[in-house]
Amino acid sequence: MSYSNNIIFGPIPSRRFGISLGIDLSPSKKQCNFDCLYCELEKAKTVDTMTTYPSVEEVIAEVKASFVKHPKIDVITITANGEPTLYPDLERLVDELNKIKKDAKTLILSNGSTIYDENIYKALLKIDTVKLSLDCVSEKCFKKLDRIHNGIDIEKIIDYMIRFSQETKNILVLEVLFVKTLNDKDEEIKALYEAIKKIKPHRVDIGTIDRPPAYNVKPVSFETLEKIAETFEGINVNIAFKNRPKLQSSFSEEEIKNMLKRRPLTQEDINNMFDEDSKKLLEKLVLNQIVSLVDSSGLNFYKIL
Ligand code: SF4
Repeated sequence: MSYSNNIIFGPIPSRRFGISLGIDLSPSKKQCNFDCLYCELEKAKTVDTMTTYPSVEEVIAEVKASFVKHPKIDVITITANGEPTLYPDLERLVDELNKIKKDAKTLILSNGSTIYDENIYKALLKIDTVKLSLDCVSEKCFKKLDRIHNGIDIEKIIDYMIRFSQETKNILVLEVLFVKTLNDKDEEIKALYEAIKKIKPHRVDIGTIDRPPAYNVKPVSFETLEKIAETFEGINVNIAFKNRPKLQSSFSEEEIKNMLKRRPLTQEDINNMFDEDSKKLLEKLVLNQIVSLVDSSGLNFYKIL
């Protein structure tokens, strides 16, 4: 079977990473070891490995052809119609991509569940940015929300995320997707925060459902995400929310410092929360080197020094 027409998508401009070329390692059907309630793809029976997939040679030939047509690619994003780490030849694929990527970076978007497979772990260490999901910490929540394949061990996932974060020389980003009445309960949020503190990722993206989900579940509100971000004290939290409300208010220098001590804020947070005078005060704090602007995998955070 030839997959050549649908392995590659883009390149498309991405706000965070520049020009992104996408690779779909499962172009013919959904192959995932989760069946998340919020999945944007159709419901599907879980699997623990891909059975139909393009060869490494086919993928590399397509990436090379894209580089000829679009020499200015900033990031090669490894994804799948499902879970990309179920691709049986992941490490060899990453090795081959690293040989041809020139100045581009590699990025993988994974549900994180395979990190304790030593071969996948080794492949992930060779990718420039690894973005892993972690929606729940309690097994009950994990099973209910992500509807995982039998035998997946959440405690082991977290242990290996901690180990990976210590070992990688690259960027680790975590993503948590919140769903109403499922993982938005206080005890789950607290447990997530404890796990995130141990994992120490560069950044945590928190968001909610914004496209029609596979099952009948509801998103949480922007206010809930803001409250969660407040709970994740000291962590680089990026709130991803379409059409977030603008609530520009006035803050004193002291208030700004206290807010940033609690948690770093993104440029988008500032644009939504700060009025013009507060933005000027923040600029002054940056000029006086009390606050710095720190890049975390394409996103700038204002942090207290
Ligand atoms: S891990 Fe991703 S692809 Fe798999 S079911 Fe969940 S949302 Fe869908």
